[in-house]
Amino acid sequence: MLGALVDWLFGKDERRTDELPEPFPADWRRILDGDVLHYRMLPRDEDRAQLERDVYWLVRQKTWTPIDLEIDDRKRVVIAGYAALLLNRRLDLGVYPRTREIIVRPTSYNEAYKSHGPGVVGANRLGEAWYRGPVVLAWSAIRPLLDRHADRHNVIIHEFAHKLDFLDGSTDGTPPLESRVDLLEWARVFTAEFDALVAAADNGTRTVLDKYGATNTAEFFAVATEAFFCFPRRLQREHGALYDCLRDFFRHDPATWPG
Ligand SMILES: [Zn+2]
Repeated sequence: MLGALVDWLFGKDERRTDELPEPFPADWRRILDGDVLHYRMLPRDEDRAQLERDVYWLVRQKTWTPIDLEIDDRKRVVIAGYAALLLNRRLDLGVYPRTREIIVRPTSYNEAYKSHGPGVVGANRLGEAWYRGPVVLAWSAIRPLLDRHADRHNVIIHEFAHKLDFLDGSTDGTPPLESRVDLLEWARVFTAEFDALVAAADNGTRTVLDKYGATNTAEFFAVATEAFFCFPRRLQREHGALYDCLRDFFRHDPATWPG
């Protein structure tokens, strides 16, 4: 059992398709169905089953630390649902092996503790992802997602995208890629797109990519991942090469999903 847990935490992929030790809780499925927009949109039943398996272990195995709010299954399952979305067809990546703790705060926060990653570290932070530490999320930034008032921001997708970026040991906006060919294409596309966003931000031109992505290449990847899952058709139309890189990485094609 300990061996299985260690394998799971450190990302041995075969654990992720194992049968759960109990049926996936019906209450959690109702939360995913009602509150996690992408759960219903996933193209295959098997994608939903995989998302449930990953949600189960995220909720059960990570340490959930609420600060100044009550945490319940709804909060845990919603956060785990979007975190699991990014991994859905990447069975090789493990379930955020360097992330043991998820801290949930009620609103934006200003505490000036040292950040170890490119999370949002300014005043009034809504979330951050530490390189070898927790993900911190403000529930006030998540709550609007439950009412389908999703604008271009999904702080859960954003912070867990940083965690994927960190998996290869650097915080440069390049997650682990499968081949040198992929890496060269990724570098070519992401460099051009990042430079274009920096220029757009300087000119005050709005694009589907939030200008916060012009901060650095790590933020660019997190912002592009948000757009990929939240505005896939527009991203594909306006930034086709970037969309293709992300589609190949996540192994999903959300521009073809319903809704
Ligand atoms: Zn960020």
